[in-house]
Amino acid sequence: MAHKAPGKAHRKGISLLELARQYPNEEAAREFFESIVWPNDERDCPKCGSLNTHECSHAKMPYRCRDCRKYFSVKTGTVMAGSPVPLLKWLYAIYLDSTSLKGVSSMKMHRDIGVTQKTAWYMQQRIREAFAHVGPLVFAGPVEVDETYIGGLERNKHAQDRKHLGRGPVGKTAVVGIKDRATNQVAARVIESTDGETLNGFVDDHSVPEAQVYTDGSSAYRGRENHEAVAHSVGEYVRGMVHTNGVESFWSMLKRAHKGTFHKLSAKHLQRYVDEFAGRHNLRNLDTIQIMEHIVARMIGKRLMYRELVG
Ligand SMILES: [Zn+2]
Repeated sequence: MAHKAPGKAHRKGISLLELARQYPNEEAAREFFESIVWPNDERDCPKCGSLNTHECSHAKMPYRCRDCRKYFSVKTGTVMAGSPVPLLKWLYAIYLDSTSLKGVSSMKMHRDIGVTQKTAWYMQQRIREAFAHVGPLVFAGPVEVDETYIGGLERNKHAQDRKHLGRGPVGKTAVVGIKDRATNQVAARVIESTDGETLNGFVDDHSVPEAQVYTDGSSAYRGRENHEAVAHSVGEYVRGMVHTNGVESFWSMLKRAHKGTFHKLSAKHLQRYVDEFAGRHNLRNLDTIQIMEHIVARMIGKRLMYRELVG
């Protein structure tokens, strides 16, 4: 789905107070979610897809399908399925994760919306799953590609990164990122190895074959078509159009946020945080409500997969 970013001047932010006025209670929050999950009032059964459904008096599942006889709510078939947390709290969690440039720690989320820290963490992992699917993430280019390492000592990291590229410094996790110059959209992936197969595979996944690719001098990209590199190792950072400044500024943003918000971040969960940052970056020029709608729309991905399987 294309989300052409309007100019920054048109972007409409919304304050917490405005959100509270617009969505004062569970009923208002439910209408927000339902308008995205079931656009045009077409309430289809998340189990079988039938439109033959009706309201019922079930406490947690307000709807029932006349065809497969299953009960469901707007959460069924989304990443919120099975969550006892009220939709109003989900709405606020999505708002906070959408609007906080550096991300929100589960400790802060726990305090702000009044759930346990464990629940807050669980909710945020599900919201990150939606951020991971903000697309399209296949770029026409020109694209900049760069690798970085997250974790470990911040001191002298740039020099360390370069020196250890290809082997991987101890205690750090390698991440490869791509930025499309035409749209400023980014994608990033936590990787186990910085070998040519891994890095070129990532570039192939996120760019069309004709896209012009700019990287640093890593030997991993040698021989690639439509590719030019700057030799960071000998102090060359910009040669006309050939540079990776765009993707590097994304790295510095990610690292600042990661350091400020998540003091310790396991490599295991890093991909989700990276997805959240990249997703938020890609939606940043939209109105707050539009960003939230994008996130909710991607929370129903699993239901769509089920439908694709049966359809
Ligand atoms: Zn059904």
